[in-house]
Formats: sequence, structure tokens, C-alpha cells
Amino acid sequence: MTKTFELNDEMAQAATELLLTTSLNSILREVRTSKPSLHFCEDCGADIPEARRKAVRGVRLCIGCQEVHEHHQRAGTGVTYDR
Ligand SMILES: [Zn+2]
Repeated sequence: MTKTFELNDEMAQAATELLLTTSLNSILREVRTSKPSLHFCEDCGADIPEARRKAVRGVRLCIGCQEVHEHHQRAGTGVTYDR
């Protein structure tokens, strides 16, 4: 009898731990994705204007570097029209 209770206890504990870990992970993910905007460009170290920091949540690049990155992203989609 007592053994069954112990097992249930262990299972409840494991379930609680799993729940805690899961919610912790989702919180961590949220924190990572909603990072505050940087004051300086991550690539070239240039000042990022306050207007841009407010407009783009979690901005990490200045306008120039952002354009370069976006260009690379578009070029890296694998869709090419050159013949
Ligand atoms: Zn930059």
C-alpha cells in the first residue's frame, strides 16, 4: 500500500519538476526574444538612433548593417532568377 503512495508521490514530483522546467524554458525563450534594443550596432558599433530603437523592438543593428543582413537573407533563400 505504502509503496503505491510513494510511487505516486514520486510521479507527482516528477510531473511538477517537468512543469516547472517547461514554464521556465518558455519564460527564458520569451526573455531571449524580447531583448531590449541595443544602443550601438552589434556589427559596426555605430550609434543606433533612439527613434529606430523604439520603432524596432530588440534592434541590434544600425540601418546600414540591417540592410546588408536583409540583402544576405534574400540572397540566401535559394530562389534565383538568373539565366
Ligand atoms: Zn552597423
